[in-house]
Parts: sequence; C-alpha cells; structure tokens
Amino acid sequence: MDDRGVAVGSETGTVVKGKASDLGVYVSECLTVGPVDPCTIVIFGASGDLTARKLIPALYHLHLNDTLPDPVSIVGCARTPMGNEEFRERLRDAHMDGASVDLSRWDEFAANLYYHPVLYDSLQSFTDLAEYLRSLDKQRHTQGNRIFYLAIPPTLYQGTAEMIGQIGLAREAEDGNGWSRIVVEKPFGRDLPTAMELERTLHRSFHEHQIFRIDHYLAKETVQNILMFRFANTIFEPIWNRSYVSHVGIIASEKLGVEHRAGYYEQSGVLRDMFQNHMMQLLSLTAMEPPSLFEADRVRDEKIKVYRSFKPFDEANQHRDLILGQYGRGVADGIEVPAYREEAGVNPESLTPTFALMRIFVDNWRWRGVPFYLVSGKRLAQKVTRIVVQFKRVPHSMFRSVLGEDIRANRLTLGIYPQERITLTFQTKNPGARSCLRPVTMDFYYDQSVSGPILDAYEKVLLDCMQGDQMLFWRKDSVERCWSFLTPILSQCEACADREQRLHPYESGSWGPEEAQKWMRLILDEA
Ligand code: NDP
Repeated sequence: MDDRGVAVGSETGTVVKGKASDLGVYVSECLTVGPVDPCTIVIFGASGDLTARKLIPALYHLHLNDTLPDPVSIVGCARTPMGNEEFRERLRDAHMDGASVDLSRWDEFAANLYYHPVLYDSLQSFTDLAEYLRSLDKQRHTQGNRIFYLAIPPTLYQGTAEMIGQIGLAREAEDGNGWSRIVVEKPFGRDLPTAMELERTLHRSFHEHQIFRIDHYLAKETVQNILMFRFANTIFEPIWNRSYVSHVGIIASEKLGVEHRAGYYEQSGVLRDMFQNHMMQLLSLTAMEPPSLFEADRVRDEKIKVYRSFKPFDEANQHRDLILGQYGRGVADGIEVPAYREEAGVNPESLTPTFALMRIFVDNWRWRGVPFYLVSGKRLAQKVTRIVVQFKRVPHSMFRSVLGEDIRANRLTLGIYPQERITLTFQTKNPGARSCLRPVTMDFYYDQSVSGPILDAYEKVLLDCMQGDQMLFWRKDSVERCWSFLTPILSQCEACADREQRLHPYESGSWGPEEAQKWMRLILDEA
C-alpha cells in the first residue's frame, strides 16, 4: 500500500502494492467548508449520554480544527440544577480526560459553554430561557442564529418543539439573518401514526427547511462515498442493475448487547432501531438513480423514489422475507455473556427481536427481481457494516472442460466498518503450468489516501446543520414512506399468534439464528 492509499491486484488477503497514479486516479479538489454563521447551539438533554459522549467531543474536535463558527455559544439545558463551571467540568472530567484526547485547547473551547436549567413542561421556564438566549446573543454577537438540538428522550420531542415555538424562537428573520433550526435524533416515531403526529407537531412551529432529522450513518465518510463511487465513475453504472447484479447484501452487525439502553430497546427492537433509519438509507444510496445535481433535495428526491418502489410484503407469507431472532447466552470476546432476557431492565419473557434479516425487492426498471438482503443484529460474531453487490455468474464457461462450471462471480464490497474500503473480487489464472483460476481482489483503503482531517459522523452533521445543508438529513416524506412500508410488517409481527415461535434464538457471538444462515452465507462469503 503506498502513501496515496490505493492497492491493486491483491490476492485475497495479500495486498499487492500499487500507486494511485498507476490506476490513473484523479484526486479532485475536495469541497471545502465554507463560512459558518455565528450561532448559538442549544442542547436539550445536556446532562445525558449523547451530549457527553458524542456532541461535546464532536464540537470540541471542530474547535481543534478551527471549523466552529466564531463567535459560537453552546448552551446546555436540562432539569439537573448546575452552573456554567460545573457543566464545563463535568464534560471535561467525565469524557474528555482520556490519554488520547488533545486537551490543549479545552479551556479556550469551554469558555463557549453555558448551562441553563429548564423544566420541559413549564412555559415560564422556556420564557426564561428565551430571555437568557437573547441576552447571550447581545453579549456574544451571535446574531440571533440558533440551533435547538433535542438530545432528550423521544417522549419529550413534541412538547419541547412546541415550547420553542410558543416562546417565538422558531421564527426566522425575513432578511435571512437570525435563522432557527431544530435537530431531531432517531427514533422519529415508533410507527406511521406516531411519526405523522411528531411531524405535525414539528411543522406547527418549524418549516421543513428548519428541521434536521439526524441519521449519523449518513455522515460516515464511506457512506457519503457511495454516491461519489457510483456517480463520479462511468464504469460501474452500466452494470449496476438487474442484468448484471444477482443480489445485494447490506449488513450492520454489532458485537455488543443491549448495554444500558434496555428501556429504549425493549420498546423498539431491531426493526425500529436499525431498519427504519440506517438500513433504509444504505439501501437507497445503493439503489437510487443518479440525481441531476449533488444538491440536498435532488438527492432526497431520488431516495424517496426507491422507497416508493419497495414491493410490499406478502402478509400471508411474511416469514419468507423476514427472519427475526433474539440472542441467547454465549461468548463475546472470550467472556461469557448473558441472554437478552437476562439483561438488566429486560423483561425475562421479552419477545423483542435483536436480530432481523429482511429480503426487500425494489420493483422498478433497474432492480426488478434482484433481492436486497438487509441484516442487522446485536451480539453477533463481529461488528461489521458493509454493502455487498454480488454480480451474476458468467453466462457460459469456455473453461468447463478443465475447470467445471463453478467460476465464482464478481463481487464488489463497500466496507464501512471496521475497514473503510472498497474491494472488487475477480478471477485470474493461477500462476503455473496448470489451468486453474484463483479469486483475487482489488482493494482501495479509504483512509490512507487523505491528507486533511477526517470528520467524525457527529462532527459532519453538526457542521452541516450550522451551514443549513440538509443533504445528509431525512426529509419528512422519506420518513413517512419508510414507516408506511415497515408499519404493517411490525404490526403483523407483533400481533401474530405464533410470535414466540417466529422469534428464533441464537447464540451470542454467532452469526444469528440457524434459519438465517443460508442467506447470511450470501452476504458474508468473502470471495
Ligand atoms: P439520556 O437517557 O441520557 O437522557 C438525556 C437527558 O434527558 C438526561 O440527562 C435527563 O436530563 C433527561 N431526561 C431523561 N429522562 C427524562 C424524563 N423522563 N423526563 C425529562 N427528562 C428526562 O438520553 P441519551 O443522551 O442517550 O439520548 C438522547 C436522545 O438521543 C434520545 O432520543 C436517544 O434516542 C437519541 N440517541 C442517543 C444515542 C446515544 O448514543 N446515546 C444515539 C442515537 C440517538 P435531566 O434529568 O437533567 O433533565
């Protein structure tokens, strides 16, 4: 692997070195971060896990890269009483004191952190907050630009959005100075009716261009790269269709169990937690048509066309297209781990699925008949996120007299985790006198060809939100469309008489239930 990060012609597992220039790789100028307006970022739920583990580290990292606006104020809000200093120390001590964290500019960053307590059900409390923010604006010259980040339990989303509207902070100045944006974390409802209800509430105070529904998967570099890979090259698009593709596999597996989020997970399960959002986004990026312009609404227009093309599940035979599982005891990283039903906070008779394998068909000209296998689960053998495009076998083998018919078909893998990598598998002749084939791979490692800093997913979404760029955020119509596909499936799963029989147990540390293995092999088989 050379320093520009492109390797060619590697035998499976053995990388043969090559240079980017050998492949004629043209490294175009990257889009740079434009100016970001001064603003105030108000985080509701500032005493919680997301704020400490993701949001503040992301904002601090943006500060280290000098990409935060200047001036910026970050106002933490929650019920817990504390002052500015305690808030700053809490964040620093709890989560920023790892040896690998560069704290050299922490104090400089922390000077932008403020804390203001709120009571979510008190209009007076929000009126006080509005007054506080207005005076902070004057003091800090943040020009009335505000982001309201809802890092709170989903049950508080609607009430909080409504309060922000009632105190007048959702209104934007007509001249464009003084914008107001709201950031909503998943889950966006728990089915179609609740998602629509949430949308109605958000839209009572905010316009669509002010609402940022986060899917941090979309902000991962390699996920964004799917569009570049597909639409900035000519050689893949002509074969990216039913004529050449046998099936597509999309996997997002986790090694971890439910951890400390049992309360949330028991209510959600894997379909709501992963499929309604991340898996659907990965699918649409893989299946969509090229947008006419790399612009938020043109890209999102193409995504919703994919969701609209989903072939509805045949309710009577749903089990053919959906396998659900729940993890039992097993071994993870050499340690014995409990079954899902034995985890703290989980009902000992829980029927919540922790694994799902779903077969979806996109019924359009390009994809008709090509199965998309979507897999996600907890306590699986490895943490992996990847998209596998499996091409068809050669239509006729001229080698059949010497090799038989079994020539492995080409496969393109877009690796998102742990390795951000693109791999193309193809056949070559094995060196030597005998005529036999060997599968080899052509690998591109994403991170080895960059010189500048790579933004972490939360850094990217926060920055995009500050810039008002909605490209990586869900749009209302797509949220509702995905729910309208999944809601009947969920209802059927949750209401069926044989619910328990359809929930297949699997051992922690395995690749899921026995019933799913035939399909798992299609996705996991590396060659
Ligand atoms: P927490 O459970 O840590 O809650 C955040 C804060 O909300 C708490 O610190 C608490 O602050 C307040 N809070 C909790 N329960 C209540 C309640 N019943 N009534 C009023 N306030 C309450 O949540 P997270 O930080 O983990 O997540 C925040 C949001 O982000 C959630 O919607 C979650 O689904 C979503 N999310 C989280 C991720 C993560 O990695 N943590 C990843 C993706 C999404 P106080 O008591 O001080 O008011």
